[in-house]
Amino acid sequence: MALRPIIILPDPKLRLVSRKIERVDDDLRRLIDDMIETMHEAPGVGLAAIQIAEPIRLLVVDVAKKEETPAPQAFVNPEIVWSAEERFTYEEGCLSIPEYYAEVERPASVRVRALDREGRPREILAEGLLATVLQHEIDHLNGVLFIDYISKLKRDRVIKKFQKAAKRAGDGSHVL
Ligand SMILES: [Zn+2]
Repeated sequence: MALRPIIILPDPKLRLVSRKIERVDDDLRRLIDDMIETMHEAPGVGLAAIQIAEPIRLLVVDVAKKEETPAPQAFVNPEIVWSAEERFTYEEGCLSIPEYYAEVERPASVRVRALDREGRPREILAEGLLATVLQHEIDHLNGVLFIDYISKLKRDRVIKKFQKAAKRAGDGSHVL
């Protein structure tokens, strides 16, 4: 397994629509293992493949609490097939937008259809944090970021901050 660098705002790849995965094979399982390791190390509760610059419809999540045994799950070609009317608000963050958090309101539960790491079809009814994480990560596969749900004023401010930081890094100063 290997840690993979996570791309951050304003990397334009974050806006790509990821493509469907045709085959679940050992190469894909290796990538899944790398993503799980990268997500745990970060640490984060979810990671979409595009966040490590792979534009394919794959994500991993692990909503186990710190004191619990890790319980990572992979979702290949995930699709939301049903969303609840009821809403749930959660203060979201994103490994690609470090140290920025904002409240986002989403459906409180969703039914998600996907393939697992063996290529078997699965369908789960997710609620609470898992529902939020799955919706956040599936958004990544469509080039959507959680800051797209906040006001334009706030979003522009965040984007500008990251553009400036990227420019500074490009000018030769580095965060150590
Ligand atoms: Zn994210």
